[in-house]
Amino acid sequence: MKLQNKVIAITGSGQGLGRAMAVHLAKEGAQIAIIDLNQEHMEETRAQVEAAGSQASVFVCNVADEAQVEATFQAISEQMGGLHGLINNAGILRDGLLIKAKDGEVKKMSLAQWQAVIDVNLTGVFLCGREAAEQMIKTNEGGCIINISSIARAGNFGQTNYSAAKAGVAAMAVTWAKELARYKIRANAIAPGFIATEMTAGMKPEALEKICAGIPAGRMGTPDEIGDAAVFLLANDYMSGRIIEVDGGLRL
Ligand code: NAP
Repeated sequence: MKLQNKVIAITGSGQGLGRAMAVHLAKEGAQIAIIDLNQEHMEETRAQVEAAGSQASVFVCNVADEAQVEATFQAISEQMGGLHGLINNAGILRDGLLIKAKDGEVKKMSLAQWQAVIDVNLTGVFLCGREAAEQMIKTNEGGCIINISSIARAGNFGQTNYSAAKAGVAAMAVTWAKELARYKIRANAIAPGFIATEMTAGMKPEALEKICAGIPAGRMGTPDEIGDAAVFLLANDYMSGRIIEVDGGLRL
């Protein structure tokens, strides 16, 4: 797919990886549908997309809310003249151990902690993927969906909820590659390692230091390095059903 003037929707693009990918794709000439919760953050992304020489529209939408997602993708198609790509990037963390028993006290991951992550990181990807595919099918121009998974999809300490969701979105990309090929829609996933964004800035410095020491590349990744992977997956018409790992060689 040539990215010039193509409409690419990116969820969670009010900051972090989503914003970096928006700016990266804008430099390739893509028009960006910015989907997120915080209008102010989205306006900043829009300004950066415009500074990169392209255009963007903002759509306030909770990706876990079916009615909002349906309305948003319809609006993107109508206002931006179609939809050619979706990056399912919005995600949250609610880390905790499944269960911790110490000195006679038992602490558990709550159902609310589990459900919050599943709602945004798994159900949100399902809903946005489904609605994006419908819009792509309507215009019959094909398209490409990228799910942002994580190195944690292999299973990570303290991340029962997050790991389960990230394994799920990787599996969904493979499923969609099989189901949607007949509509000329490709689907892939990117599994980033540790990338310097607002999400990882919230981690304890000693935990980050320990993680970096174990990364063969010796450092965290940059959002631009994830942007490069997204451009490659969108542009290469023979890439489908694959999970690209961008993690500096780290294995959990
Ligand atoms: P981030 O800085 O926290 O950005 C996530 C964005 O998603 C925020 O703008 C957030 O909005 C938005 N969002 C959250 N819930 C939403 C919802 N229900 N509907 C719409 N938007 C919502 O995170 P990031 O580090 O850029 O991560 C982006 C993606 O990459 C996530 O899926 C994450 O799991 C994945 N990932 C990140 C890393 C890493 O090292 N950073 C590694 C592997 C995978 P608000 O801030 O307004 O809530």
